[in-house]
Amino acid sequence: KEPTDINKLADEYLRLAYHGFRAKDKSFNATIVTDFDETIGTTNLIPQDMGRVILNLITNAFYAVTEKKKSSMENFEPTVTIKTQKSENHLEIIVKDNGNGIPKNVVDKIFQPFFTTKPTGQGTGLGLSLSYDIVKAHHGDLKVKTKEKEGSEFIICLTDNKL
Ligand code: ADP
Ligand code: MG
Repeated sequence: KEPTDINKLADEYLRLAYHGFRAKDKSFNATIVTDFDETIGTTNLIPQDMGRVILNLITNAFYAVTEKKKSSMENFEPTVTIKTQKSENHLEIIVKDNGNGIPKNVVDKIFQPFFTTKPTGQGTGLGLSLSYDIVKAHHGDLKVKTKEKEGSEFIICLTDNKL
């Protein structure tokens, strides 16, 4: 672990996610909103590992808004928000999208290894299970809030004094 500026980390992996996604889908376009709490300072973590989690969550969000765009007739504005916030001793990194959300019968399984709803070749189903393990190894929690048709929010929740 090393002292890490999570805002910088989030920004760096957002760029990676964007370029990685664009490389596969040239027509990809989304409004990306960043809302970083500048008072956070540094946090002790394994930057490559937490970066991987951020990359996975953002890539899933990009996919979700792209899918919704394909199926929406009206002028849908794909939007992905990356937010950081600090409360007394908690630190959160939030990735939010306005995709189609996750149905109830699916959301129970998304952290299982190899669970995917994506077509063959488009998803390994390992992103969220790996992300969950990484966050747990940092004594944190990975939570999801989702509403069908409205979108999803993944929250990396870290506790300051456990890092
Ligand atoms: P993969 O992306 O390879 O399918 P993940 O472990 O990253 O594997 O995600 C597992 C499943 O969780 C996805 O196939 C999808 O059904 C669901 N999922 C994850 N993130 C989102 C999201 N932001 N919006 C909708 N569904 C999601
Ligand atoms: Mg994924």
